[in-house]
Amino acid sequence: MRKLTPDSPGGFFCLNYYAKTKRTVFLSMPRHDLSPNTAPVRTSLRSKLIAFTVLPVVLVYSVLFLLGISHINTHLSTNAQALLTEHAHHQASRLALLFYQVPALAGSLGDLILAEPDQDQALLYAHLIDGLRRTPIARAAAIVYDDPPRGAQMQRGEPRGKPFTASPKPMLTSGWQVSGETLRFNRPITRRGQKYGHTWVELRLTDLYMELTRQASPPVVLFVGNEAGLLPPPMTSDEHIQRLARELPHPSQTDRVTTVYDREGNEYWSINAKLPGFPWHITAITPTATALATVREQVGMVALALIISLLAIVLILGLVARQITRPLRMLDDRVRQISHGHFTAAPTIHSNDELGRLANAVTRMARQIADRETLLRNAHQVLEQRVAERTAELRETNSRLLNQVDETRRTQRALEQANRDAQLANRAKSEFLSNMSHELRTPLHGVLGYAQILLRDSALASTQRENLEAIERCGQHLLTLINDILDLTRIEVGQVRLDIQPTDLPKLIEDVELIMAQRARVKGLTLKIELDTKLPRQAMTDAVKLKQILLNLIGNAVKFTEHGSITLKAGLTADEQLAFVVRDTGIGIAPEKTESIFDAFTQVGKGRVTDGTGLGLAINQRLIALLGGQAMTVESKPGDGSQFRFRIPYRPVPKEFLSLQKAAAIDETLKLALPKDAHYQILVIDPSEESRRMLAILLEDAGCRVESHATLREAESILSKRPFDFVLLDVRLSNDTKPTESSTIRSIAHRRPRIVALSANAYSNAAEVARQAGFDAFLAKPFDPQQLFRLLGGLLQSDEERIGTSTGLSWPRALAEETAQRVADAIDQGDVSRLFQLTEELAENPAVPKADIDNIALMARLFDFDGLRRFCALLVQTD
Ligand code: ADP
Repeated sequence: MRKLTPDSPGGFFCLNYYAKTKRTVFLSMPRHDLSPNTAPVRTSLRSKLIAFTVLPVVLVYSVLFLLGISHINTHLSTNAQALLTEHAHHQASRLALLFYQVPALAGSLGDLILAEPDQDQALLYAHLIDGLRRTPIARAAAIVYDDPPRGAQMQRGEPRGKPFTASPKPMLTSGWQVSGETLRFNRPITRRGQKYGHTWVELRLTDLYMELTRQASPPVVLFVGNEAGLLPPPMTSDEHIQRLARELPHPSQTDRVTTVYDREGNEYWSINAKLPGFPWHITAITPTATALATVREQVGMVALALIISLLAIVLILGLVARQITRPLRMLDDRVRQISHGHFTAAPTIHSNDELGRLANAVTRMARQIADRETLLRNAHQVLEQRVAERTAELRETNSRLLNQVDETRRTQRALEQANRDAQLANRAKSEFLSNMSHELRTPLHGVLGYAQILLRDSALASTQRENLEAIERCGQHLLTLINDILDLTRIEVGQVRLDIQPTDLPKLIEDVELIMAQRARVKGLTLKIELDTKLPRQAMTDAVKLKQILLNLIGNAVKFTEHGSITLKAGLTADEQLAFVVRDTGIGIAPEKTESIFDAFTQVGKGRVTDGTGLGLAINQRLIALLGGQAMTVESKPGDGSQFRFRIPYRPVPKEFLSLQKAAAIDETLKLALPKDAHYQILVIDPSEESRRMLAILLEDAGCRVESHATLREAESILSKRPFDFVLLDVRLSNDTKPTESSTIRSIAHRRPRIVALSANAYSNAAEVARQAGFDAFLAKPFDPQQLFRLLGGLLQSDEERIGTSTGLSWPRALAEETAQRVADAIDQGDVSRLFQLTEELAENPAVPKADIDNIALMARLFDFDGLRRFCALLVQTD
């Protein structure tokens, strides 16, 4: 998206809108969509039209024009020349006709004399007159004959002839002769082969030229010539003709128009036309300009017509171009106006052609754009309004949110504080309960201990015995209560951890049955066990906690049932859950109480206070939740009995466990090699995970606590922090094995653990090598559980012997005496708390073996006063 301002490139909407509102609009419309083409039109359509129509037309027209003119010119010139030629020939023919009359006259006169030599003079005159009359061109005619010559001569215009005189002297040469301005034709008269006389006829050049001029067209000047050249025009003729005869060269060729020039450079056409039958010719000369005047006039006319038509074409084309371009320019102008936002500027073209349709389309488009712009403006206003409203709302919401955030922060702080307080309170409660139960349990143990001691006295009166038994019962109840409270507290503060192990479910249920059957029998009740066929034999679960839940439920059932039976059902649901149901035929629970019985310290039955603590079901619910199960439910009808149900997820036992279990399924008595519940701390260091897991299962099953690591380096840290009774170390034994590892363990270890070498590369003297390498014992892999337990049991025995002989050495003498004395005092006073206090003090003394402290604490917890006495005796005895 771009920000558009009037200066920045953008659509015209922006420009228009900005002009009206002075606001900047954000449009994502690309400029080229709507922006007007403001670049000046360099080549207008009109000039293009002219360039592509008028110019070619003018060009073609000019070429055609020039060709036409040249053609016409040539054609007309040729015509003019032909005309001249024709004219010359015509004049030549006419002149020849005239000339023919002259020899004919001369001949007829000669023939007349020959026929009648003695002619009368008057008759001769008459013949001459007649002859001249028939020959208009002749000026004079004469007849001379006989010897001495006689004859007659006649001049045209004279009234009568004259007799022959010597003068003019008759010419003796026959044919045509020119003399000055006179042209004479002589004809001899021959009689009997003898020259008898001759006749002649005279012409005057003036007459000849007059005759030619009479017939010639005005601009053409005619000259007569023979082989000797032109006959000079008579002196009386026009000066112009004289000059032409003088100046113009005489063309040698005949019947061909030649261009000649006078001295002034004027151009003339000249042509020679032969007189048929005579050695004479006529030369026709005419000024070229005059000959071509008509031609030029016609060409000029044609040229004018062509130019006018060309101008007309150009004008018409210009008008047509204008006719086309004017609406286009108008359209362009309107579109530009529209592009600047003047949508009302519709083009006014009222024609039904393409331009008219285009104009209509532009008008429609402008209208649509205007409509859209109005819509856009309206939408924008609405949008602005909405934005303003939303902004206001947002501001309000924001401030509300800020307030809420503040409040939330305050609440969060308060909650955190409350949480901290709650945690503190919880911890304080746990500590308080733990301390209280500890404080309560200690004297209670004393009470119970002494009640038991007193009950052993056979001299007691029966009332005293009953009272003592009551004391013991109350004590036991109190102890149960305290233990329950402790359990609940530990669960709530998350101290209880699950110990998921492969569990034999029928066996677990059998254990429960064993425990509860006796109690049921005492009350005359039947305990039935119904195991579903689908119930898996093995499952991964925490057996102890599951057993605790079942014991509690069956315990309750026994407690609240007087007649009938108690049934425990176990099975597997379709969705792979282990389902348990405990049903009784007891007193039942009122419907309104079925919810509250799961709350802590809630009892609703008859046997309140004395028979229970009200914590059992609450603990159960938490344990079920820990095991990942659904909350327990109860269905009950007062008087008919109750039915408690719960489910926990079924997790099958992995295969490797099953094979290990097989190996571990040994004679239970073997475990007895280890003291029961001795809780020995055992560290297993073995790179093989399988091996580690198998050892852990075997040993934990025997009640030991096992810590496993792959290497000694990994185990170093835990070894330095926690005391271990045994370290089982996987080693590679050879004759060169140095006691490095065993001594490392001993140097780090809290107290002196028994170190057992486990090795797969066993050979005959491996045990000896292991001992030399500082190990307490050696076990060759693979070994069976019996061997392991036997070995550990053996080490313990030797250890007990060691305690007997060596413990005293590690105890400072004074401390050993003092401890023995304090234990003895505590036992005498039945004050177990003092024993616990003593162990805590001893734990702070590094000189005291940890195992001894644990022993004392264990014996105190179990009221094993005899054991304590033996231990003290051993301590002092050694000393
Ligand atoms: P208590 O230690 O008192 O048994 P529980 O949490 O186990 O505490 O039980 C709470 C109360 O629920 C009991 O006091 C009793 O009133 C009622 N209740 C539990 N189980 C049964 C049962 N099977 N039949 C009748 N009432 C029962």
